[in-house]
Amino acid sequence: MKRIAVLTSGGDAPGMNAAIRAVVRTGLHQGWEVFGVRRGYAGLIAGNFISLDARDVGGIVQQGGTILGSARSPEFQTEEGRMKALRELRQRDIGGLVVIGGDGSQAGAHALSQMGLAVVGVSSTIDNDLYGSEITIGVDTALNIALEAIDRLKVTAASLQRAFLVEVMGRDCGYLALMAGIAGGAEAVVIPEMETDPEVVARGLRAAYDRGQAHAIVVVAEGARYNAEGLVRYFREHHERLGFDLRATTLGHVQRGGSPGAFDRLLATRLGAAATEHLARGEHGLLVGLLKGEIGATPLVEVVVGKKPLDARLLHLAEVLTK
Ligand code: ADP
Repeated sequence: MKRIAVLTSGGDAPGMNAAIRAVVRTGLHQGWEVFGVRRGYAGLIAGNFISLDARDVGGIVQQGGTILGSARSPEFQTEEGRMKALRELRQRDIGGLVVIGGDGSQAGAHALSQMGLAVVGVSSTIDNDLYGSEITIGVDTALNIALEAIDRLKVTAASLQRAFLVEVMGRDCGYLALMAGIAGGAEAVVIPEMETDPEVVARGLRAAYDRGQAHAIVVVAEGARYNAEGLVRYFREHHERLGFDLRATTLGHVQRGGSPGAFDRLLATRLGAAATEHLARGEHGLLVGLLKGEIGATPLVEVVVGKKPLDARLLHLAEVLTK
């Protein structure tokens, strides 16, 4: 193999650039030519390749987002779309591909791998819902951004004597909300994995005031049944009885945009390098991730069916601490 390509796909995550940089520089170190694919699988189908040398990936390690751009590509979900993508790679004599992204992107990587391409995935999503890595690129930075918002809201909540709600990302996975709630000292956490009665949230907030706290905060995941919209509406409708309103702050994409912290830069760098090393050894059809604190690999065929449920001990801890 003389040429490889790298792409970022799905939701962007802080640290993706550090992973791109590591793939490019370790690939060059192997004596290969390295190409970047712009805009994920959509760019792969459209033949949107750029040649990358060591200097092209200079000065990006501290930047959030992805210099290659990302996309969601419905066309790639079709056999025909993937055939086009393979043709674009073969035309350029590119024999290996590194896919930096979350679970959807790794399902795509698996599909390409089954069509005979040498593919290695790099675990990257702020949701941390990817099987094959106990923590994924971007999670730590997103969590720190959520914590900064919670800390600031506590200050203003204390001045105003108001209850605040912070909505963090997580359509199906409450990891960010749970961890931000634990580390931010929230009074309640509401996540998609567990049905939460708004009355329980109200009791938690009321209890905080009753014990003399000047602020009360609830952290919710966007995908929870009672997310920001649902809870605010409920509190408004039952305002008389509950005695207070909730002010909601939705962090949304703000969580993605930050400069990656040390943890994400180092994780991304190590995972990017590991992906290239696997390709160099002729090992592919794998996802590289953090397993028991070490860099490890899991077959993509397992990744696409594997589930990563929330750690029950963390759920229990949150219940105890938010009392
Ligand atoms: P993430 O990787 O962050 O989970 P998405 O779920 O949006 O993001 O997936 C990114 C892209 O991966 C999709 O737009 C699509 O092109 C591709 N993809 C997702 N699921 C599959 C699948 N089952 N088979 C092939 N490609 C897929």
